[in-house]
Amino acid sequence: MGFRLANIGGRAALVSGESYYDLEKISHGDFSQDPMEALEALSELSALDAQLEHFEPSGQLADIELGPPVPNPKNCYAVGLNYRNHAEESNMAIPPVPMVFTKHSSCISGPTADIEMRSDYVDYEAELVAVIGKPGKDIRRDDAWQHVAGLCVGQDISDRPMQFSAAPPQFNLGKSFDTFGPIGPVLTSLESLDDYHSMEIRCDVSGQLRQSDNVDDLIFDIPFIIAYLSEIVTLNTGDVIFTGTPAGVGVIDGKYLRDGEILTTSIEGLGTLRNRCVRVADHSRADIVPEAFSKLVAAAREKAAAHQ
Ligand code: ZN
Repeated sequence: MGFRLANIGGRAALVSGESYYDLEKISHGDFSQDPMEALEALSELSALDAQLEHFEPSGQLADIELGPPVPNPKNCYAVGLNYRNHAEESNMAIPPVPMVFTKHSSCISGPTADIEMRSDYVDYEAELVAVIGKPGKDIRRDDAWQHVAGLCVGQDISDRPMQFSAAPPQFNLGKSFDTFGPIGPVLTSLESLDDYHSMEIRCDVSGQLRQSDNVDDLIFDIPFIIAYLSEIVTLNTGDVIFTGTPAGVGVIDGKYLRDGEILTTSIEGLGTLRNRCVRVADHSRADIVPEAFSKLVAAAREKAAAHQ
């Protein structure tokens, strides 16, 4: 049981091996073409997936470009400082409750989409992403996995000075520029994974390893985050949760993304994002480096020097 759900040209498709199957076609119209609607009938989706061998593939993955498997979430949440090693490298205390911010849903983009950069301080954050299936309010931690449609790989791209330009810092806009939320390559159901509690996560920039960890190092795990969030907001079908990034982000060593670089982000069992970084323009504050940002960089450098 289980499924791998893809978005191909805005149409929902099931994936098996290197082949894909258009969902509306193989379901004879029981499912629409909309990938968001597919998330509303997960058991029917799994049942159809179990029958894939009886259908002719609609095509091969090698011949198409995938879009984001969840293209239009109502809400998109993200958790900061959720790996101990990242909180330490950022010189920040481990938060007593999840440090939640939002990425505006309009920043969601595909697994091979270009990342459009508007300053010299754009940074990567490899993250495990959970997508809500069954909606809920006040979800108990023990029940939380039953509300997850599946998992995918995500990049929480950040324009660092914009992130720290307000006082106190407001993460939303700095992490919500168009194209700053690549997800994919497909949405993988929990049943399709060997062990979704323990998966290697890594990030390379033009072939150079920058981040390498395991999602079992999350401080607040997915059930905790779901229980916590759903006390406050109703979680809706298709809502996206970025769960935080491990150590190795660019801001610590001043290794920001450069024009033309290829950002590669992988999680064991979930697949790989490959995004090209493109410097498109300057945003209006691109040459202003806010004090909070300079302080963060200086503090991290000081700490690194003290450890040497
Ligand atoms: Zn993040």
